[in-house]
Amino acid sequence: MEINKKTFEPGETGLTNIHIANLPSGTNIDLPVHVFRAKKEGPVLLICAGMHGDEVNGVEIVRRTLEGKLYNNLTTGTAIVIPLINIFGFINFSRDMTDGKDVNRSFPGRKNGSLASQVAYVLSKEIFPKIDCAVDFHTGGSARYNYPQIRYTKGNEKSKELAEAFAPPIIIGNRVIEKSFRQEATKQGKFIIVFEGGESLRYDGLSLNIGIEGIMRVMTHLNMIPTNAIKQADYNTTFIEKMYWQRAKKSGIYTWHKSSGTYIKKGELIGSINDPQNKYCIPVKAEKTGLIIGHNNATVISNGDALFHIGW
Ligand SMILES: [Zn+2]
Repeated sequence: MEINKKTFEPGETGLTNIHIANLPSGTNIDLPVHVFRAKKEGPVLLICAGMHGDEVNGVEIVRRTLEGKLYNNLTTGTAIVIPLINIFGFINFSRDMTDGKDVNRSFPGRKNGSLASQVAYVLSKEIFPKIDCAVDFHTGGSARYNYPQIRYTKGNEKSKELAEAFAPPIIIGNRVIEKSFRQEATKQGKFIIVFEGGESLRYDGLSLNIGIEGIMRVMTHLNMIPTNAIKQADYNTTFIEKMYWQRAKKSGIYTWHKSSGTYIKKGELIGSINDPQNKYCIPVKAEKTGLIIGHNNATVISNGDALFHIGW
């Protein structure tokens, strides 16, 4: 296998740094790609995170798998591990690139396009053709918490199989987003699942644990690590078919009473919105019966802000 003009033989482990660009300061920015190959042929799995630079849970999940030497004794196949794709966003505490462009809306990318497009191009040309499947790790938005969940491409049975092997608390089958990593890799015939857990710029222990255990279950499923390494999930997986964003009917100071991972019934009190001058205190009642798959942790909210992502 050749990545970035560096050859990795069966049984070999190594690192290659793909040059991306310089910072305005002149500092060189390379994309480090870790490669672990078993002696025996097998599936090629890409594990990556940080496409959105502020989505730290994904980055930390992948870092911890490196720290735990998860890939060092593969029985078959190859693991390609990229803990942090958007280095520019990471150092700026931002989801996007320096020019505000989203790498995950820039695929397949162009060699001479925007910086986001160039990073997408490197992945599309240098990495995707070498892999069979991938787990792409994300985190929720700013103050927007996502209960640990896997998204697979609806109608793509192989990606559903990977999602089930991961065994997260929530599985959502949805369509791919235009110009996303998942769309381009799926076009190239690869099977992709996307993990979401926690909120940006904040560690979430539950998401970290479920993310790490999920990678191990996927690798066991692919016969890349021994089956005795697997930890069965101690919860049931819920398949979500329909989703609804419940929004604030008034602006004010917000408190949630129910959070992600909780089943709620239509009409149930799940939050409250208060006026700072104490002119009103409005109960937030569930508009749907279902499972809270994401919620807003913001204290100050405006009319129309998304409060709860409810799935059923
Ligand atoms: Zn993301």
